[in-house]
Amino acid sequence: MVTDLGEVFRLGTEKAAENVAFRRYLANHHYPSGPFQIIAQEVQSHVDCTVCANCCRHGEVAVSGEDIAAIARHLGTTVDEVERLYLVGVAGAPAQHELRTKEEGCVFLDGTLCLIYEARPKACREFPHVATGAHTLGSRRASQDRWVALCPILFNAVEEYKRVVGFHPQGSEGGGDLGGWRGAGGGGGGGAGRGGGAADARRRKTPRGLPGAYRRRRSCRAGCPCDP
Ligand code: SF4
Ligand code: SF4
Repeated sequence: MVTDLGEVFRLGTEKAAENVAFRRYLANHHYPSGPFQIIAQEVQSHVDCTVCANCCRHGEVAVSGEDIAAIARHLGTTVDEVERLYLVGVAGAPAQHELRTKEEGCVFLDGTLCLIYEARPKACREFPHVATGAHTLGSRRASQDRWVALCPILFNAVEEYKRVVGFHPQGSEGGGDLGGWRGAGGGGGGGAGRGGGAADARRRKTPRGLPGAYRRRRSCRAGCPCDP
């Protein structure tokens, strides 16, 4: 398993076109999303997010009213203070808010740890969205692809899923045999229920700079995995 962030970034960017082809391959073969979720959960169990925090460095986190109230309660302050100190508006959507960012990433990131971990927003609790699955694999893969070069869980899960379904980068039809995986179903289990639809999508972590995704951020420091 590749967990070094620099290596994940290098390989993930290198495989960007391949991953688009893989998404088409999955759509063409109507593979269920259940096996991918199982693989991703297995990968997730071997990755320690508290020493990674790459999504907290590179994500934009949209928050709901519930998220804001929970943060206020956790910090022992008011919703107004949370909005003033820790949130910014979303361009073109005046009713929406995102967590403020600083040079190192999220305003609540301290090294690789979250200062409001117990009250972190739903988007953070569910990221990288591999344990819940109310959407079709195709639509989820599109958003996951944007994170593949930044998140070790997604990078390794996608690579393993390619192997399981017999996908080969040169476009050959691998004739992947899911075998017992077929019974894994289309997901939808576990975790907090997902609302689905556009409103839910706005409450996710989104990598900055879509869809090119992996370009270096102005704020990235020397040595950052995004530093080309
Ligand atoms: S709130 Fe916590 S978990 Fe969410 S992006 Fe910020 S530091 Fe990371
Ligand atoms: S979810 Fe992915 S990017 Fe975020 S901390 Fe865990 S391994 Fe790192």
